[in-house]
Amino acid sequence: MPDRRLPTLDLKRNYARVREEIREAVDKVLESQHFILGPEVRAFEEEAARMVGVPHAVGCASGTDALVLALMALKIGPGDEVITTPYSFFATASCITRQGARPVFVDIDPETYNLDIGQVLEKITPRTKAVIPVHLFGQMVPVEGLLPELQKRGIALVEDTAQAFGACRQVGDRIYRAGAVGELGCISFFPTKNLGAYGDAGMITSTREDLAKSLRSLRVHGSTETYFHDVVGMNSRLDEIQAAILRVRLRHLQEWNEERRQAAARYALLFREYGLQEQVRPPVEAAGNTHIYHQYVVRCRERDALQAYLEKEGISTRVYYPLCLHLQPCFSGLGYAEGDFPQAEALSRDSLALPIFPELKAEEQEWLVSAMAEFYRR
Ligand SMILES: *Cc1c(COP(=O)(O)O)cnc(C)c1O
Repeated sequence: MPDRRLPTLDLKRNYARVREEIREAVDKVLESQHFILGPEVRAFEEEAARMVGVPHAVGCASGTDALVLALMALKIGPGDEVITTPYSFFATASCITRQGARPVFVDIDPETYNLDIGQVLEKITPRTKAVIPVHLFGQMVPVEGLLPELQKRGIALVEDTAQAFGACRQVGDRIYRAGAVGELGCISFFPTKNLGAYGDAGMITSTREDLAKSLRSLRVHGSTETYFHDVVGMNSRLDEIQAAILRVRLRHLQEWNEERRQAAARYALLFREYGLQEQVRPPVEAAGNTHIYHQYVVRCRERDALQAYLEKEGISTRVYYPLCLHLQPCFSGLGYAEGDFPQAEALSRDSLALPIFPELKAEEQEWLVSAMAEFYRR
């Protein structure tokens, strides 16, 4: 057994930095005995909307629910098509089939791992109702370029912002923030996300008042007045305790995102120092982007053997994602086959997520990179 370990994420270190603030905030909720959709949720919705730069934010129970609610608000259903990426977490596509609509996949850009927006327009049909770009691993898809075409055709842009809270991109003198470009942005506060709650939580940001109003009703069974239902919604609410915790953590988010960026820069430096350019390709931050490194995903030679070697040394890594969405057994009915999206499929074979979190230490990164160098020297 190795005498030290490096996890991919260590939430305990982060909790130690905010323990007092969190306990005070949770205690306030406990004393109030108000647990669902109260003052903490309202305040958090306002603060999150301000940070994203949108007029509306609606809390809900998870990032998955945020996506489902977004498509419900857009009235997407059977017969409709939604264009998205085959390289993402499962919920990005399942929200579409859950609504009875059809996911239409587009391959990714091998540099940024994000949906190749150049291919989106070719996939539009009269049935296309929305496009869901995922700001994967913490950097934005350049979706602003798609807006004019989508608006012209009445196609909604729903950003999956689950991994990119606080990311932005600059084009000329304009700043685009993740979740503020399209009609709707879907955020996850799953504990491992860069802004995580201490349980499940999610949120939808919106630039449109009518959609925000509809979402507020859909999250409480489709009612605007209790016990009177215009539509069938869900039970998907944000707890006061989670909102109180998220308010504390939101105040630190910029600092933590900056620390992630510093850790990413250090990895890139170490790969050069250890002469690993041939074997390891670090993630590319596209021009104009501020990547917040929710994950630090490299492409590497002999991925599986490297991962097993590191695990033996006491270093944990992850594979996001080992099987593309178009090849998932539950989507076999869609008619996709291996070879349809070569860039995404290649990435699922050679990508490796290295440990990254704000409290990651320089010496831990050096330990990891030296172990990688050792592996490739063997
Ligand atoms: C985590 C995640 C979700 C789902 O969020 P949950 O809060 O876990 O339901 C959706 N899309 C992406 C890209 C994610 O990473």
